[in-house]
Amino acid sequence: MLNEETGIRGYVVTGDGRSLEPYRAGRAKVTQDLAALQQLARRRPEIAGDVATSARLVRRLEQFYEQQVALVQQGGAGQQRAQRNVLSGAQLFDRFRADAARLVSRSNVIVQQARTSQRRTFYAMLAIVLLAGATAAGIAFWLLLSVPRRIWSLYDVERELREAAERGARASRSLEHVDDAVILLDAEGRVRYWNPAAAAYLGTPEPDALDRPLGEVVPDLPRIEQTLAGEGSGGVVVLETDAAERWLVARETRFPEGRVLVLQDVTGERELERTRSEFLATASHELRTPLAAVYGAVRTLRRDDRLSSPELDEQLLTMIETESHRLAEIVDQILVSTEVDRGSVPVRPEACDLRELCESAIASVRVRAPATIELALDVPRPVVVHTDPSRLRQVVVNLLDNAVKYSPKGGRVDVRVREHDGSVEIEVADHGLGIPEKAQKRIFEKFVRLDPEMRLGVGGSGLGLYISRELVERMGGRLRVDSEPGRGSTFTIQLPR
Ligand code: ADP
Repeated sequence: MLNEETGIRGYVVTGDGRSLEPYRAGRAKVTQDLAALQQLARRRPEIAGDVATSARLVRRLEQFYEQQVALVQQGGAGQQRAQRNVLSGAQLFDRFRADAARLVSRSNVIVQQARTSQRRTFYAMLAIVLLAGATAAGIAFWLLLSVPRRIWSLYDVERELREAAERGARASRSLEHVDDAVILLDAEGRVRYWNPAAAAYLGTPEPDALDRPLGEVVPDLPRIEQTLAGEGSGGVVVLETDAAERWLVARETRFPEGRVLVLQDVTGERELERTRSEFLATASHELRTPLAAVYGAVRTLRRDDRLSSPELDEQLLTMIETESHRLAEIVDQILVSTEVDRGSVPVRPEACDLRELCESAIASVRVRAPATIELALDVPRPVVVHTDPSRLRQVVVNLLDNAVKYSPKGGRVDVRVREHDGSVEIEVADHGLGIPEKAQKRIFEKFVRLDPEMRLGVGGSGLGLYISRELVERMGGRLRVDSEPGRGSTFTIQLPR
C-alpha cells in the first residue's frame, strides 16, 4: 500500500508516467494480500472485522489514487488540483496505516497463539509417543521375560504328557506280545485293557470285552475268583474252551484304581508233566518186563533141583541175552534223548553205502522179529551218500522195530531206497495198524505214544521217533510219515546227496 501511495505522490509531483510503476506493482500485491487475509478471516472470526475495515479503506484509497491519476492526465490545472488533494489522501492513508497496524498486531497474537498451540500439540504428541514407546518397551520386556518361561513350562508339561503317553503305548505294545492273558479292570470291575492272549484264551475279541463288566465277558469268572480266594495268586483254573480244556494259573494284583488279572496258560507244561509220568509208568513197565525175564531165567539156572538139559540151558541163556539187549536199548534211548535235548549228539559224516547199511539193519531186526513178519529190501543199484552211518543205522533200525511192533498180525515190511535229483530217500513201509491223521504230527514229540495204556500189548518209551527225527535233521535231512489207519504206515528218511 505504501508503494501505491509513494508511486501516486511521485506521479502527482512529476507527471511522469514511469513514477506509476511502484503504484501498479503495489496494487497487485495489495489485492493478493487482501484475498489471503479474507481467506484467513473465514477461519479466525476475531480478525474478520479488522480485515473488512482495512478492505474498505483500501478500496477508498485506491478510488482516490485513480482520481489523482485521472487529474494528472488532464495536465496543467488537473495536476495542480491533484497536488492540492495530496493532503486529504495522506489523512486517509494514515487511517489505513493505523487500521493495518491493529490488524497486524491482532494477526501477530493469532500467530503467537497458533505457535504456542502447535508447540503444545508437539509436546503432547511427543509425550504420547514417548509414553506409548515406553509402554511398548515395557510390554516387550515383560513378554521377553515371561513368554519363554511360559513356553518352557508348557513344553515341560507337553513333554511329560508325551512321555507318559509313550510309556503307556510301549507298555500296551509289549503286553500285546505277552503269552499270558493280561486284563486290566477299573474299580467297578469293568474291562479297561484286554490283550490278544486274553482274547485267545477266553475266546472273546478285544472290542467285545472292553468297557464291559468282567463277569459278562468271562462266564467262568466265579471259578477264577474262587480259586484266587482259596489258593491265592498262583492257583490253577481249568477252563473248557471250544477246542480243548485249558489249564490257567490265575494271578491278580490290586491297586487303588482297580486290579490286573493275569492268566498264564500252563496247558503245555501240564501235558508234558502228564506224558512224563506216563513215560515213567511205561519205562518202569518196559524195564521190569525184561528184568523179570532175566531174573526168572537166572533163578531157574541156579535151582539145585532142576532137570538140566543143554537145550533148556541154551533157551534160558538166549532169553537172558535178548532181554538184556532190550534193557540196554531202552536205557540207550533215554540217554540219547537227553543228549539230543542238550544238542550234544555228534554227527560224523563219511561215505556210506545204503544197501549195506539197510541189509545190516534188517539182519539185526530180523533176529528178534516174529516169524509172521517178512522183511524185504529193494535197492535198484548201489547208492552211496555222505552221512553218519551209525546214526543212520540207528534210525533205520528204530523205524523197522516200530514197523514190526505195530504190525501185530504180521505181514510184509519193505525197505526201499530211491534216488532223486539232489536227494536220496529210504522208505520203511508196513501194513500194520496205521496212524490217524491228526496224530501224525504228534508222534514225533517226546514221550508221545498213541496207546499209552498198551491196550494192544505193544510197549515202548515214546522216544524212538523223537530221537529219529532229531538225528535225521542233524544229518541235514527230513523224516516224514504217510499213513492210513488199518492199512499201514510208510516212514521216509530224505537225505541230501
Ligand atoms: P514207541 O517207543 O512208543 O514206539 P516211538 O516214538 O517210536 O515210541 O513211536 C511213537 C508212537 O508212534 C508209538 O507209540 C505208536 O503209537 C506210533 N507209531 C510209531 N511207528 C508206528 C507204525 N509203524 N505204525 C503205527 N504206529 C506207529
